[in-house]
Amino acid sequence: MNNAIYLDRDGTLNQDDGYVHKIKNFQLLPDVLDALKLLKNDFKLFIITNQSGIGRGYFGIEDVKKFNNHMIKEFKKEGIKIEEVYICPHNPDKKCDCRKPNIKFIKETEREFNIDLKSSWVIGDLYTDIKMGKNSGCKTIYVLTGHGKYRKNQLEENGIIPDFICENILEAAKTIIQNKNLN
Ligand SMILES: [Mg+2]
Ligand SMILES: [Zn+2]
Repeated sequence: MNNAIYLDRDGTLNQDDGYVHKIKNFQLLPDVLDALKLLKNDFKLFIITNQSGIGRGYFGIEDVKKFNNHMIKEFKKEGIKIEEVYICPHNPDKKCDCRKPNIKFIKETEREFNIDLKSSWVIGDLYTDIKMGKNSGCKTIYVLTGHGKYRKNQLEENGIIPDFICENILEAAKTIIQNKNLN
């Protein structure tokens, strides 16, 4: 079986000033490349992103795909492979089954990529990322980048305890490497 890292996008990998979707506003957060290089040999890397800006009519799915492809190309230059990017395009009102914390996309990877969820991790800057991880039986790391710092209270408000809280994705990657054999 394979192990996976499920990465949130905005605020975890890239700078997020709210509904970021233009390539000219694309900016990787510090140390993201180093973090993914630490992880890439032991884990398959996936991105799961809620993009309700599509459902709200702020931008189109093509904008999101262009942005994602740009990011993937930047990673590829560094020898980092993203297996797949999963996008929920829906407005929260739609109560769809793919918006985080729903686990539809994770279950898809479990089947398609033969993923062992117990040995896989979710990294994100919002409580819904962590909730998705918990709901699917993955280990979870909440990062204090993006929304992480000022929305940390939402973890407690929703009774969610991540396995680890890290300053940023590099610290998260190091934590995963140290704890990867822990079950
Ligand atoms: Mg985020
Ligand atoms: Zn959805």
